[in-house]
Amino acid sequence: MPPSPMACYAFILVLLQIFTPISARLIRPVTNNTLVSDGDRPVQLWRVGASLQHPSLQHLLLQGLIEKWADDATSSLVMVREEDVPEVQAALQEEQVEYNVAVEDLLSLVAAETEHKMRGRRKREIERMDWNSYHALEDIEGYLGWLNASTNGVVQVLSAATTQEGRPVYVVRVNDRGATGPKKRIWIEGGIHAREWISPAATTFILHQVATNPDWQRTILPHTEWYFVPVANPDGYAHTFTGGRARLWRKNRRVNDNALPDRCNGVDLNRNWDLKWGVGASQNPCSELYMGEVPFSEAETTGLKYFMERVGPLDLFITFHSYGQSVLYPWGWTKDPPKNAKMLHRVGRRFLEAVQHVSKGQVDYTLGGSGAMLGFASGATDDWAYGALGAKHAYTIELRDTGHYGFLLPEAQIGSTVRETAAGVQCMVTYMINNGVCARRRRNARNRNNV
Ligand SMILES: [Zn+2]
Repeated sequence: MPPSPMACYAFILVLLQIFTPISARLIRPVTNNTLVSDGDRPVQLWRVGASLQHPSLQHLLLQGLIEKWADDATSSLVMVREEDVPEVQAALQEEQVEYNVAVEDLLSLVAAETEHKMRGRRKREIERMDWNSYHALEDIEGYLGWLNASTNGVVQVLSAATTQEGRPVYVVRVNDRGATGPKKRIWIEGGIHAREWISPAATTFILHQVATNPDWQRTILPHTEWYFVPVANPDGYAHTFTGGRARLWRKNRRVNDNALPDRCNGVDLNRNWDLKWGVGASQNPCSELYMGEVPFSEAETTGLKYFMERVGPLDLFITFHSYGQSVLYPWGWTKDPPKNAKMLHRVGRRFLEAVQHVSKGQVDYTLGGSGAMLGFASGATDDWAYGALGAKHAYTIELRDTGHYGFLLPEAQIGSTVRETAAGVQCMVTYMINNGVCARRRRNARNRNNV
């Protein structure tokens, strides 16, 4: 469904503002409206004339006073809550870092998006999942229930954990038990960061291909066994559907301290895994990068860890995030490449080629080690899957876009994004099993014909 004129207008406004060069624009004085709750107070988007690697920006990030929107070598876009404006302003002025306000109130865009979504939603039969709109948690769970009941035991929906708010963390196993012989084990994780809505959409779309697409079932399923986690952070995801600031929530919903502001709740589940825990993460609960009190302090990460250990060594692990259009492999905690970096690079390259092919050259991804490409982060699922569990291939894939819409990727882009992502994964897997669209013998034959 196309976005409403209001949403289009709002996004065009953002683009115009984001690409305004840093100038002497002054930050408008903040108006204090005591009638609105914290959850509805403005969140601004600032363009800052320094990278997030700059020590003072790094400090603000780890304190939870700013949140990352985009970052490059010389500038960054960051979210700043209205009540934190004076403190952030003072810190940047002291360091003589230039900044301006790109968007006065990011939440007005969220409001336009939510209004459009609610208007466009209809009560649908659970099996009629679609990839034209973002779906609430209960819709996704309804769809999983339908798959479980209608695929003759090929799809099993299992629970890995129960969250602090009492929601199950589902793992969906897809395995054709009629097909014997060696199988590659593949784990696909989505939705560990609450606001990255395109991630559960891509994960459920690939699940749909594996479970129902005759081509995938013929060429891929007999040689593979799949585990999908459509929403690894269900409390956080459900929270993002409650409106206002909640749309931009990243962490889970652990209550750290009731006396502190809401931003000080939650743990970043992608900093809570036990491999070089603490590098590039924050010890401050108020930061969006809060790593938790101890590794595996959270029900979600503990439950998924035990489940993955029971499954055993994986051949391929992928976790979907947004945004950035990049395929990243370990390590996150160091720039040094892992032992089999060449093989990780070769299989990752298959994703890039397939996306380029399906998008007719319109969508480009980058590929490399995540520590080298994004800056250090540890406690992430991919490093753990690779370094602790022994997965042969492990990737974090940052989906569309490159920052124009960021976390608020329009619904009009869901269909094309999930289709190109599924094509990318299909190419990686068929390359690994050497059967299907990117099988090596086909590639070699094609190469020979070209000589
Ligand atoms: Zn993420």
